[in-house]
Amino acid sequence: MDLQSMIDESSRIVFFGGAGVSTESGIPDFRSADGLYNQKYCYPPEQIISHSFFMRDPEEFYRFYRDRMIYQQAKPNAAHIKLAELERAGKLSAVITQNIDGLHTAAGSRNVIELHGSVHRNHCMKCGKFYGLDHIMSTSGVPHCECGGIIKPDVVLYEEPLDEECINRAINAIAEADMLIIGGTSLAVQPAAGLIRFFDGRRLAVINKTPTSADDEADIVINASIGEALSGIRV
Ligand code: ZN
Repeated sequence: MDLQSMIDESSRIVFFGGAGVSTESGIPDFRSADGLYNQKYCYPPEQIISHSFFMRDPEEFYRFYRDRMIYQQAKPNAAHIKLAELERAGKLSAVITQNIDGLHTAAGSRNVIELHGSVHRNHCMKCGKFYGLDHIMSTSGVPHCECGGIIKPDVVLYEEPLDEECINRAINAIAEADMLIIGGTSLAVQPAAGLIRFFDGRRLAVINKTPTSADDEADIVINASIGEALSGIRV
């Protein structure tokens, strides 16, 4: 059975996506450290994007963050757009993403569960006031609230736990799904691998350029780009 037929017969599809969904919008995976990091930053990205580093050196954190984790010009790609179409058609119930760029929402998806938070939400650590991404990008150095507090992105940093409500929403969506599409992730990062174990539906599809830990259980494995694989789907 091909992907189109599986989607045709499903009505509560959940999409679980990783960095590969965003790379097709020109957003590189910050975990795939290249030589550039070593030239420009004194620490590996995993260290800079950690809670303790943020508290110790927010200036250096924001230098890396603005430079490497924010892609304001990025646009939704064919995968984001197709998933939003599937939701509008009443066939897809949720998008669960490990990405923080907000591109699913930009494409029109409504039920988006952002496991690692979003660069579009930022809060003052002192008074809790909300700030959008524009405020972060139009300031330099450490962005401060009008109350004087430091503004922190609602992005889950290393050493920080995931939001419990987010995890519960993801578990419920996966448990109630009749089809799960895993895309653009090798499932190497927890809790991804753990979450998909709650799936009890009929069809499991994996779309990823490289092998994943879910390949053995999958009904279909497509080793292609996610945009390529989804763009041809008729809704
Ligand atoms: Zn404040």
